[in-house]
Amino acid sequence: MIAERSPCLDLQGLANRAGLGSVARKVLAGERLSREDGVALYRTEHLHVLGLLANHVRERLHGDLTYFNVNQHVNYTNLCNKLCRFCAFQRLPGQDGAYQMTPEQAATKIREQLGEPVTEVHMVAGVWPKIPYEYYLELLRAVKAARPSIHIKAFTMVELDQIAKVAKKPLEEVLPELIAAGLGSVPGGGAEVFSERVRQETYHLKLSGDQWLDTARKVHRAGLKSNCTMLHGHIETIEERVDHLDRLRLLQDETGGFQTYIPLSFHPDNSEMADVPGPTAVDELRELAVGRLMLDNIPHIKAYWILMDVPVAQTALSYGADDVDGTVVEERIYHDAGATTPQHVRRSELVQWIRDAGRIPVERDTLYKVVWSADPMRAPVGQPAPVSRSLAGAS
Ligand code: SF4
Repeated sequence: MIAERSPCLDLQGLANRAGLGSVARKVLAGERLSREDGVALYRTEHLHVLGLLANHVRERLHGDLTYFNVNQHVNYTNLCNKLCRFCAFQRLPGQDGAYQMTPEQAATKIREQLGEPVTEVHMVAGVWPKIPYEYYLELLRAVKAARPSIHIKAFTMVELDQIAKVAKKPLEEVLPELIAAGLGSVPGGGAEVFSERVRQETYHLKLSGDQWLDTARKVHRAGLKSNCTMLHGHIETIEERVDHLDRLRLLQDETGGFQTYIPLSFHPDNSEMADVPGPTAVDELRELAVGRLMLDNIPHIKAYWILMDVPVAQTALSYGADDVDGTVVEERIYHDAGATTPQHVRRSELVQWIRDAGRIPVERDTLYKVVWSADPMRAPVGQPAPVSRSLAGAS
């Protein structure tokens, strides 16, 4: 159990003066925030008070511990027929830069990193209906054969829906077969914003919010953990963001299957929505903080460094985030959309970033078992990452 820091400031008084008194009372009492509270948090001009509230919850749950992992990304194809307007990664066959890796090529990517202490491969891609079911099984088997110890976190809910279609079987039957081939957990992408209005305007060929949530429900019932996300900073309203968070929270009440919430910053470059400015660093911090405060039943909040400048990710560790993702190795989706962060970092750099932010680095595996710890007393190696008390419980 993590000791709570003794508060050295009058958080309730600060929140009162910022017009967030009733929200702060609930946060300090460990009570669930309402949708109206969520709207108030998005609208407040007092970013520092919002950050302090989110940090209070972050430290109540995790103290100073901050998680990362040593992972690599494999984006096995950019072929996609979903034509999401915000996407710069998708290609149609014959278009410049279109590619699809064979399972063996994906395995080669894994073998190239055998000298690194990689514990996870994050494998997501476009959605292409001509890819047969057997390809996905072979992909998993090839990756696993290349590095048997690796945890495969693969296939967004959107990809899983497509895989079930080409398998011509219900997802409930497909998931055990994917697991037998090596699937260990599921990432959280493809959720975008659940609002049907946003979907019709930006990603109308892809799963609706209800379908994404139902797919996640099936994933969790199959015994797999997943993450969850929201793509923010484009045309969505504050109310639509709050609705999205609330619906994630409700499914989490039901399944408990989400490990981590990751707000994904919209990157406009090279997409059909290049005229939309995208979120600022302040927007990113606000999004992380509201996520931490609203999602009282999801253990971890990730500041995904690949999407935001590293100093913003470091600052985010005081705005509710307790995880920074991993070493990555060759990220393509967000770099096609103009991300200017590096495509990978060394493990030692991640450790230093976290230390420089005044936090305690802890390497985790995909399912949050501690792999290495700068504070083995609080986060012992080989044990599950400690999360203080019940997530929604009082401090
Ligand atoms: S966001 Fe995903 S599903 Fe949409 S077009 Fe891009 S690759 Fe395809």
